[in-house]
Amino acid sequence: MYKKMNDRPGRKIIFGLALGAMSLTAVGSATAGEVNLYSERQPFLLDPLLKAFTKETGIKVRMVYLEKGMLERLKAEGANSPADLILTSDIGNLNNHVNAGLLQPSKSALLSKNIPPQYRHPDGLWYGLTTRARIIYAHKTRVKPGEVKTYEDLAKPNMKGRVCVRSGKHMYNISLLASIIAANGEAAATKWAKGLKANLARRPQGNDRAQVKAVFHGECDVALGNTYYMGKMVTNEKSPEQKKWAASVNLIFPNQADRGTHVNISGAGITKAAKNKANAIKLVEFLSGDAAQKIYAEDNFEYPVKAGVALHPLVALWGKFKADDVFLSKIAENRKMATRIMDKVRFNN
Ligand code: FE
Repeated sequence: MYKKMNDRPGRKIIFGLALGAMSLTAVGSATAGEVNLYSERQPFLLDPLLKAFTKETGIKVRMVYLEKGMLERLKAEGANSPADLILTSDIGNLNNHVNAGLLQPSKSALLSKNIPPQYRHPDGLWYGLTTRARIIYAHKTRVKPGEVKTYEDLAKPNMKGRVCVRSGKHMYNISLLASIIAANGEAAATKWAKGLKANLARRPQGNDRAQVKAVFHGECDVALGNTYYMGKMVTNEKSPEQKKWAASVNLIFPNQADRGTHVNISGAGITKAAKNKANAIKLVEFLSGDAAQKIYAEDNFEYPVKAGVALHPLVALWGKFKADDVFLSKIAENRKMATRIMDKVRFNN
């Protein structure tokens, strides 16, 4: 089925077929009725959806799963890239592809209808397909009810030595800071980053789940993390100790009394090199539809981007929340400044 690709860009690429009865094929010979996909999203998330898409449309999908290096690869391949469409997560990744000139605009009435405007590029350079909130994981007893309600609270003096965060330069935190710039301006965002750093229990390290682990072990009382990691911890049979980490915390959706919680996306973009643009649009349209939305979001404990689609029961348990409705294109614009701020306050040092 899928082949994880480790070969260097520029070499002839053999695609693992996502579906259908075709044998392995050298790509570059695009024919009608296909679409080629580079994905940083894992095959297990996509396999059933791509099969359903082919069943419905007859369009064959070839997918290459790229754990990393997609941007470099697309740059190296240039106009010869076999990829029509990319799937990746975080506005930071999508925007890096925009800045490298690798994506092209597109228009679709269906996508405009299915995807709220704040979660798609105004010219259709990228489209959000799932959303995730960046929330506060707070220890159940060491954090008193109402003690932490906002991102801003994390930078207040009473949180000194109580906060765990992954690298300030990680995409998730840059996007969050970009949202704080959008809400409060550069000076306040800088002050916030300084205050947050001053409250850290330890130097930024590890991934989102490692922060919750640190809360469980008593190293800190609160942590920042994306919502879907709660689902991944609670259901983790491979590493059941993660269930204990999850059980030690409450989820706090910040800023419910004002702008709402920062929400990011996973999404799709049509490449400038696309030879099957119309089919690529059809695939994104399919992924934005009710049936696909439910499966795509549920598989990774994310939220569907389309309104009215049912949530995974576990995700539904976390409750309804108000999302910051700042346009992600605005967040994308602010990311450079956010990176500068993290450097300026020497967040990781
Ligand atoms: Fe993640």
